[in-house]
Order: sequence, then C-alpha cells, then structure tokens
Amino acid sequence: MRGEPAGKYDFEVGMYRPPSEGGSHSLLLRFTRNCPWNKCTFCAMYKHEKFSMRSVAEIKTDIDAIAALIQDMQSLSWKLGHAGQIDRDVIVAMIEQVPELNTSHGFGMVLNWLSSGGKTAFLQDGNSLMMATDKLVEVLTYLRSTFSSLERCTTYARSKTLSRKPRADLTAIREAGLDRLHVGLETGDDALLKKIKKGVTGKEHIEGGKKALAAGFQLSEYWMPGLGGREDWENHARNTALVLNQINPHYIRSRPFFPYPGTPIHDAHQQGTLTLLSPGETLKELRLMIETLDVSSKVCFDHAGNCWVNRNGGLLFTQSYEGYQFPEEKPRVLDLIDAGIKAQEGRTQKGRFRVVP
Ligand code: SF4
Repeated sequence: MRGEPAGKYDFEVGMYRPPSEGGSHSLLLRFTRNCPWNKCTFCAMYKHEKFSMRSVAEIKTDIDAIAALIQDMQSLSWKLGHAGQIDRDVIVAMIEQVPELNTSHGFGMVLNWLSSGGKTAFLQDGNSLMMATDKLVEVLTYLRSTFSSLERCTTYARSKTLSRKPRADLTAIREAGLDRLHVGLETGDDALLKKIKKGVTGKEHIEGGKKALAAGFQLSEYWMPGLGGREDWENHARNTALVLNQINPHYIRSRPFFPYPGTPIHDAHQQGTLTLLSPGETLKELRLMIETLDVSSKVCFDHAGNCWVNRNGGLLFTQSYEGYQFPEEKPRVLDLIDAGIKAQEGRTQKGRFRVVP
C-alpha cells in the first residue's frame, strides 16, 4: 500500500497489524509481503496476494526514507521558528513542498507514530521469521540504531516456523531487538486445526510457544471463539485451553470467528457443514475454555468482534489491550460470562435476540 509515490520519502506499508499496535500508533515497516502459508480456510487477509521476501537493502531504504522525512520536517520546523517541533504548521508547510505526501498512507502513519512518542514498531506482514536469521538480525539492528526512541518491536509469527527455528536463532533475533510475537493459535484441537488447514498441530503450537518464551520474547496467542461451530465447540474450547496451559503465554487474545465471504469456511457454512454458534452458545463455549484455563497470562478481548453485551446493553468485557490478569481475575471473568449468558437468555425470551457476528 503506497498511495502516491512520495519521491525520496517513498516506503511500503502493508495492510494489517494487530489492534494493540494500532492503539499504540506503531511505526509499520514491511519486512515481507503477505503470508507464506496462506491456506487457513477462515482467513481473508492475504487471500489473493502472493508471498514475497524483501531484501535487506529494500527494508533499509524504507527505514532511511522515514528517517529522512522526520529529519526534513525537523529542519523545516527550525526554519519556521518552531524549535524542531513537528506541529500543524510544519506539516502543512511540508505538504506544500511535497504535495504527494498528502495522499501518502505512510505519511499519516509516521505522524501518528511521532505524536505517540515514537515508541513502538510493528514488522509487517504475515510471518517475519521466514526471513533468514542473519538478514532479520541485520535489519533489526539497523532499525534500532536509526530510531533510538523505540522501546518495543513486534511482529506476526507462525508456530510452525517457531517450532522449526533453532533456539540460538530465536535468541539472536530477540537480542537484536524484536520484543514481542503475535501468534495465531486459533484452536488447540488437532482435528479442528486440520479442518481449518492451519498447517500446525497442537504439539507444534506448544513447541513453538515454549521456544519463543525460552528465547525471551513476549508472546501473544490469538484464539477464535466459535471457530468449530456447533459441530466442534466442546473439543475446541477444552483443547485450546489445554494447549494454552502448556504454553502459558503473556497474552491470550480472543478473536471471535466470523465467516468472511470468499473464504472456504464461508462456503462450508453456506453448504450446511458448519453451523454457527449463537452469541449465547459462544459464551458457553467461552465459559468452558476459561474454566479449563490454568495460566498466569493476561486474557484479552481487545477486538471489536468481542461484542457480547451485558444486561444493560453495554460491552461485557473490557477491550483493553492488557485485559484481565489470570489467575487473579479468572473468577471475575467467569462471573461476567455468566452475566452475559443470563442477558442473552433474557433477550431470547423477550424475542429481542440480537445476532452478534
Ligand atoms: S497463517 Fe495467518 S495470515 Fe496466513 S493464512 Fe493463516 S491466518 Fe491467514
């Protein structure tokens, strides 16, 4: 995604990043393009795009372009008598000098990042650990030395890649400045993992997660309530919790399932081989999963899809990126789920059943 090419300030920005990286206004840097696996039946993210690596030179050129953009805005600020501050007047003057910036996706992203203190970066796209370790270490080192304000760098990673990567490589990548990995677990149930073509087993999820933690990464694991439908909900809930118990990641993030048109799982739903759970049924599945969970993770509902409601029609869970600290807040979450189930029953009885995707 480029918008209009902005000359020496031109750099690539991918489509996706986790919500927590949007909330912290992370700098988005494209290390690879799209997803090297691209077979998960529920996923619409990179469906029609081909995976490709980017070279070290390309990524460094992007980092240089962003650094030049910031430096030139600061110089302009001094010229205008704004003491290096990048404020509205400086931004307007910059766009007057380089009109293409006005339609550049990357320009707004860099401004947001700077206004939030320039603290976090997210390396796009679907699995940056596909890069050869020495190349990834080289660009991470370059990134950290270019932007000294960075406090946290994160990226997406697949469990399969983590489980195959030598431990020493993971440690080298961690030490070069990659802090947090966002991993799509989806489910811990082997039969369902096969059905959704995740390309990984529960055992490999555990191996990958444990290796990431041993190398010193912060680990976010994402799971999908509702993914198994009525056919598989119980195994999905129980086995997801059991796999997460073995990993004990820093974060467990809920991403409720929705069958996006154009995905194979949407077709399965249309053909009647997958029956979607109602909001109340998803809460019962969630209850079983949370009951079985025995972790010291933060359990998060930090996505708009977690839109179960309480009896007042408000959101059942906080959508904070830090979520609920387990085990301390497990009873609270279970109470909230019970209250949500009651609220759903009340709505159904009153004929005010609300379909929540
Ligand atoms: S690995 Fe992730 S990005 Fe790739 S197809 Fe699966 S869910 Fe989508």
